[in-house]
Amino acid sequence: MISFEELEKNYKQVIERTAEAAIRSGRAPEDVLLLPVTKTQDAEVLKMAYDLGMRACGENRVQEILAKKPLLPQDLIFHLIGHLQKNKVRQILGEVSLIHSVDSFELAQVIEKEAVKKDLEADILVEINAGGEETKFGTTLEQTEGLIRQIAVLPHVHVRGLMTVAPYVEDPEENRKVFRDMHHIYIDIQDKNINNVTMSVLSMGMTNDYEVAVSEGANLVRVGTGIFGA
Ligand SMILES: *Cc1c(COP(=O)(O)O)cnc(C)c1O
Repeated sequence: MISFEELEKNYKQVIERTAEAAIRSGRAPEDVLLLPVTKTQDAEVLKMAYDLGMRACGENRVQEILAKKPLLPQDLIFHLIGHLQKNKVRQILGEVSLIHSVDSFELAQVIEKEAVKKDLEADILVEINAGGEETKFGTTLEQTEGLIRQIAVLPHVHVRGLMTVAPYVEDPEENRKVFRDMHHIYIDIQDKNINNVTMSVLSMGMTNDYEVAVSEGANLVRVGTGIFGA
């Protein structure tokens, strides 16, 4: 387990680098949310990060969120960043503030149905496989607008933006085009003013490439190993 001192050092450094990248791209540090990714970390480690100021974290598995959440302060908010199976929707709705990984109308319909049953509303991002990798979840860039227009008619599901998991690359510059394509479509859809759709979150960039992502317009970066270690 990572020590408090090590975590503090890493966390502060990533906060600082995110802020500097925001400023370089003409924005204020508070305009870019750093979402620490806490998957596989013990609740104890999350508590240490909480003590260092973390109030939102990203997890990729429903079961893990449900297990950890009761062990942590109530004002720590969880985001689901990993693939969501339809049969897990019921369990996760109401437990996370944002689902980053909606990539089909069928999944959105299940969220709608369960949201009605639970009498709540769900904020979601549409996941795009912007790098076009066969192994990745996400819709294609070409199908994104059509999918968003379909989801927009679901009254309890609110599209808040877009998310991508860029390819793993040695040199983060190799992902610049992927991030740029994401930003283009984000602005494009924003300009269309689709009812029940807001483009306010552009979730992209991980440990390896978050500074490049911010420089191309990301306003939410998901950083795991850069903060918590490998
Ligand atoms: C694990 C994970 C991250 C964080 O990855 P790091 O390279 O450790 O920063 C970000 N997004 C998603 C969807 C992940 O599953």
